[in-house]
Amino acid sequence: MKHVDEYRDGAVALVLAEKIARAALAQRQYRLMEFCGGHTHAIARYGIADLLPANVSMIHGPGCPVCVLPVGRIDNAIELAAQHPLTLCTYADTLRVPASKRLSLMQAKARGADIRMVYSVADALRLAQDHPDRETVFFAIGFETTAPSTALAIRTADRLQLKNFSVFCNHVLTPPAMAAILGAPQAPGMVGIDGVVGPGHVSCVIGSRAYEQVAEKYCRPVVIAGFEPLDVMQTVLMLMRQINQNRHEVENEYTRAVTREGNTKAQELIADVFELRRSFEWRGLGEIAYSAYRIRPGYGRFDAERRYGIAYRRAAENKACECGAILRGAKQPRDCRVFGTGCTPENPLGACMVSSEGACAAHYSYGRFREAAMAETAI
Ligand code: SF4
Repeated sequence: MKHVDEYRDGAVALVLAEKIARAALAQRQYRLMEFCGGHTHAIARYGIADLLPANVSMIHGPGCPVCVLPVGRIDNAIELAAQHPLTLCTYADTLRVPASKRLSLMQAKARGADIRMVYSVADALRLAQDHPDRETVFFAIGFETTAPSTALAIRTADRLQLKNFSVFCNHVLTPPAMAAILGAPQAPGMVGIDGVVGPGHVSCVIGSRAYEQVAEKYCRPVVIAGFEPLDVMQTVLMLMRQINQNRHEVENEYTRAVTREGNTKAQELIADVFELRRSFEWRGLGEIAYSAYRIRPGYGRFDAERRYGIAYRRAAENKACECGAILRGAKQPRDCRVFGTGCTPENPLGACMVSSEGACAAHYSYGRFREAAMAETAI
């Protein structure tokens, strides 16, 4: 299959692994963060970490949409659906993320709230059109990748003059989170990152230039990568070459999809409908300034936060869960004492075990933790 088979060629992977081994300078460590959960998934699925030298480590980043959503936002959505006569729509993964009081949206649905799984915001819009006497709220999450479709739905609702459709907007932005991670390498609980594997899907929308300030300010290379195993390995090599040469530029490995400018039509759509929030809480990373969108006042009648007076309250994580530390790269899934026992994809205790893009789910699903444990036992 074009754009798939040639990026999964085992013989080429071995050639790249040799090049990476040759590029690795013995006296230094290469700590590379894959920002995006899609890359975490690819690394676990294809065993890429096993092909890297011991001094090259992949650190999982916060780029999984449901993982970074703080508990308080899910509490907000549950309260909204429980306390108002409305239909709340969202993606499947969001339904399973644990919230406060041992609840999730799925459990709130079981208790009688009208909560529905949809494949896209267009489904929610259609539901609102089909049921004009009932309020429909879309619980919108995700990075810049899904923000354009939410913006388009709001513009469509405006054009159709729908009175019963609104959005609880929780879209977040990648560059501010990347800056927060790179800007605090010495803070307690944070680790030093030598380079970043940049997200592919997000970059299709915002373009590679969106990271130029971050790379320049924090003197760290960023290489945007595709999601096939050879993409990731080539990106690792490109990052290591920059590090060896003391460069910190934005490079683009994913040229078949990403340009420097990005998708300008999608950017215009976002700019028309959304504006930046002054601050937004991220799970594991805390409050990050100007890191999320809210709906502009001009489209305020479609803003569920205004319509229902939603007030955000911080809420504590499950004490046993290490998602926060994993999302900022300070811990690995196996560092959590309930990984694979009290917490599994069937019974997730934390958000990182819910989505296939979550670091814990990726490690668990492909059994990498078993191989690592066996290797340790053999030593
Ligand atoms: S294994 Fe479960 S509880 Fe532990 S950090 Fe991962 S998601 Fe949280």
